[in-house]
Amino acid sequence: MNWILNFKTKFVEKVKQTFKRDRPSKVDQANSAWINCPGCNQMQLREDLKKNFNVCKCQYHFDLDPKIRFDKLIFDNGYELIPCPKYADPDPINFVINGKKAIDKYKNYQEKTGQESAILIAAGKMNGLNVVCAGYNFAFGASAISLRESEHLLAAMQYALDNKVDCFISFYCSGGMDVKGNLFSLTKGMSAIILAMNELKRKNILTVGVLSSKTTGGLFVDTFANDTLWSECKSSNNLLFSGKRVSAGVRSSDKEEMPEDYGEGAALTRNGMSDGYFENRLEIKDKLSTLIRVLLKKPEKEAKAESTSNVKVDIPAISAS
Ligand SMILES: [Zn+2]
Repeated sequence: MNWILNFKTKFVEKVKQTFKRDRPSKVDQANSAWINCPGCNQMQLREDLKKNFNVCKCQYHFDLDPKIRFDKLIFDNGYELIPCPKYADPDPINFVINGKKAIDKYKNYQEKTGQESAILIAAGKMNGLNVVCAGYNFAFGASAISLRESEHLLAAMQYALDNKVDCFISFYCSGGMDVKGNLFSLTKGMSAIILAMNELKRKNILTVGVLSSKTTGGLFVDTFANDTLWSECKSSNNLLFSGKRVSAGVRSSDKEEMPEDYGEGAALTRNGMSDGYFENRLEIKDKLSTLIRVLLKKPEKEAKAESTSNVKVDIPAISAS
């Protein structure tokens, strides 16, 4: 019956060719001067978006490089980058996928973004307050948190303790914990970060989380360890554990409609999962500074950070334990 199979194959090919549509590849889309906004479904010039820190006129927030955020939107006059510890290993089990080493992929991300890990961490002044900021870069492999990122965060928290800063701010944007990192990411990394955050709280260092354009998976769970949690904007989307599509699949058995704003900033606040949302990422600096001063009972004229304790705390590295 080979002739039937041959006829079927040729027929299917002919139909495919007839109805073939030329769609731009991912590379074409990335190199295009235009981008489609999922919020208003309008084409936007990338240059225009860039000038407005990747915020569309409809207030949809695209991802923002943490370096641009720190340079233009957060710190007063420059900042000091907190380096990632040399011993921090992003690939402790030498993971190989489709014949390619995971470590090579990681090095590509480092080259592409110019960052040591998926998180850019810096210390400096924000409206006179001493702060340490961790900016998660989605362009760095969806900012998956491997053992290296966890060690980088611990080093930053150690810096915050040593220098008695006012506040530790995390700008979350990540697909979650790095599965290639095996249990090191999912158990050791997560638990160590939560314990270190508790140490900051014990020393009266405020921990603030800001959920930016997407935060899912294990990292979304981590965000609840903050003293206060905010969304970058009302319609920030994919602020969930499992992602909108997967959650909808689970709920479909109940024949329930998913709320239109499911996983968005406003919905999180309405359901008591976050303390509020900002209107726009451009106002975060001023509103957050006021909030921090109120929570720390620290009026604006006090420029120098104070600590209630002189006892030094050392956070152990995960790799050394
Ligand atoms: Zn838009």
